[in-house]
Amino acid sequence: MTKSPAPLRRPAVARTLKALDRTIAGFRRKHETVALVPTMGALHAGHLALVRRARRAADRVVVSIFVNPAQFAPSEDFASYPRRLAADVAALAEVRADLVWAPDAKVMYPAGFATRVAPEGPALAGLEDKYRPHFFGGVATVVAKLFGQVRPDIAVFGQKDYQQLKVVTRLAADLDLRVKIIGLPTVREKDGLALSSRNLYLSPEERGRAPVLHRVLAECADRIAAGRPIKATLESGAKALARAGFVLDYLEARHAETLAPVRSVKDGPIRLLVAARLGTTRLIDNLAV
Ligand code: AMP
Repeated sequence: MTKSPAPLRRPAVARTLKALDRTIAGFRRKHETVALVPTMGALHAGHLALVRRARRAADRVVVSIFVNPAQFAPSEDFASYPRRLAADVAALAEVRADLVWAPDAKVMYPAGFATRVAPEGPALAGLEDKYRPHFFGGVATVVAKLFGQVRPDIAVFGQKDYQQLKVVTRLAADLDLRVKIIGLPTVREKDGLALSSRNLYLSPEERGRAPVLHRVLAECADRIAAGRPIKATLESGAKALARAGFVLDYLEARHAETLAPVRSVKDGPIRLLVAARLGTTRLIDNLAV
């Protein structure tokens, strides 16, 4: 007789520091290791891949869901960013997360809050920071707080936000936060589009054109790997994106570790990074050469 699988247990949801502390203390009493997966919710298969990786890396998995006002400029989509906690908690049961940490803004930033982390190095590479100058300060501040709240042994982030992964890795090392950072490859749709909560904003017609972003990156990566000059390759990539209706913020080749500009493949491992708007939706992506 085949055994039916055990019913999935929904993860507990902590909304106050007291509730979070109680659960984490329970883990620590049993000497269990803890992995944290920070997210802004509206979870998709990319987020769930991070949770599965965290599951393998530690005894307990905490997923934070917090749409962080500190990383949005007033002109950006903070108010309209998708929020769907109940569906997220159900999805997290499937991948056996143990705890959802879902503070509201008053818990994260209580009255009197007056500290902001100011990351440098990869946070000033002239990529996302050039177009969203408030962004990495907001990310670094909230990630430092999440690490202080959860005190994880491991934290898992996606390479989808490549510059962010570098910023967070630097933050953990520079502030001696004692967290091992793991970066995971980007999960994509079959047509190449990187999964993103913001893909929900695309109209059906825009969704049809969106995979051009990844296609152009892949073509540029192939050409550069085959020895074609970087500058001319990226210029023709930028033109292809414009023809598909993208308004480009940047399409750049950078050193994969330092994010410093590169002129040729001899300068070291190369990462291509792109950000472009399709209608009102801003999409980012990146690819190794
Ligand atoms: P977000 O909720 O968009 O802030 O993302 C939370 C985490 O999920 C970040 O570490 C992202 O890099 C990661 N992530 C987002 N999209 C993907 C994806 N398509 N594949 C892998 N990781 C992702």
